[in-house]
Amino acid sequence: MSTIKAYGAKSSDADLKEMTIERRDVTDRDVKIEISYCGVCHSDIHTVRNDWGGSKYPVVPGHEIIGRVVEVGSDVSNFKKGELVGVGCMVDSCRECSACEDDLEQFCEEGMVGTYNGKDKHLGGHTFGGYSETIVVDKYYVLKVPENLEEKAVAPLLCAGITTYSPLKHWNVKKGDKVGVIGLGGLGHMGIKIAAAMGAEVVMITTSPSKADDAKRLGASSVLISKNEDDMKKHKGSFDFLLNTVPVKHDINPYIQLLKRDSTMCMVGAIEPLEPMHGGGLIMGRKRVAGSLIGGIKETQEMLDFCGEHNIVSDVEMIDMDTINTAYERVTNSDVKYRFVIDMQSLKN
Ligand code: NAP
Ligand code: ZN
Ligand code: ZN
Repeated sequence: MSTIKAYGAKSSDADLKEMTIERRDVTDRDVKIEISYCGVCHSDIHTVRNDWGGSKYPVVPGHEIIGRVVEVGSDVSNFKKGELVGVGCMVDSCRECSACEDDLEQFCEEGMVGTYNGKDKHLGGHTFGGYSETIVVDKYYVLKVPENLEEKAVAPLLCAGITTYSPLKHWNVKKGDKVGVIGLGGLGHMGIKIAAAMGAEVVMITTSPSKADDAKRLGASSVLISKNEDDMKKHKGSFDFLLNTVPVKHDINPYIQLLKRDSTMCMVGAIEPLEPMHGGGLIMGRKRVAGSLIGGIKETQEMLDFCGEHNIVSDVEMIDMDTINTAYERVTNSDVKYRFVIDMQSLKN
């Protein structure tokens, strides 16, 4: 075991502070990674604040991890020392159930092991994430990162990238489809870029008129301000697919009105009760509201390769580890352009 530096919260109302944690020694199947960058996902904040219940403390968040391999176990042949790799939201699953067999480890019937706040099968207790110097991960859950992509800007693909890519693929978004991305934050900005690369006509649906120019720069062909009822009426019944990234309880009925007959809105943001949904909104037009959780390991690799081919990375604001608490406040206030990424060198100094 080794003791390393990390940043975490000791309770739901505590600031994040420097602390030490243990990492296991490398087993035959493991890859040890020196972390260079880690993205800040809104889920990190939900977990620290115990918004979903069940958080285990200390919480050391971080599941958008990029780094270089520093050591591999004797059964690891597909990763080499010095290679650029990534770790996303999962570090283990049962590998035997029907979900795992179908490459959908995120839905493992025994429960996938989250990169943080998961059950640590090796050391006991719970797992600690990427706001730390190093991480030791089973080779199966380590991703290869295209070397042509800018290292620090690739980190958010490990969660925000796959969480938007997977539903866009699953619901067969294709050239010419009109796709609405709701909420321009970390997930939303990746949703625009990926849907546009798939050939869709992307409309950014936002509560923030000030983000309109950015949305277009990111690849949206137009912007719909969701608080403007006239604008919402103009787009009624016109969308082939909606990706809803809003992180909190909200009224989804106005968005359902935007869907075409037989089309789907996929929820990825609010993992909590929503405002009541009017059945009529679904019945009139045979519409669907669905959900999606990150993506499996195979699909995450496919997404990274797709982003490599299309030269897609995140728009990042770099921060030092000791400014994380201010960054959390800004994300909570929808004020990030469009993903904070921690330079992990700042923890080592
Ligand atoms: P984020 O960066 O905070 O972006 C969320 C955006 O939603 C905001 O920038 C804002 O955009 C909009 N928004 C915020 N409050 C709103 C409200 N009350 N009504 C309407 N729009 C609102 O968050 P993120 O990191 O993208 O994460 C989004 C959510 O997805 C979080 O809840 C996170 O936990 C969850 N998540 C889920 C998965 C999954 O697998 N399903 C994976 C990762 C994250 P505008 O200013 O444009 O309106
Ligand atoms: Zn995340
Ligand atoms: Zn399983």
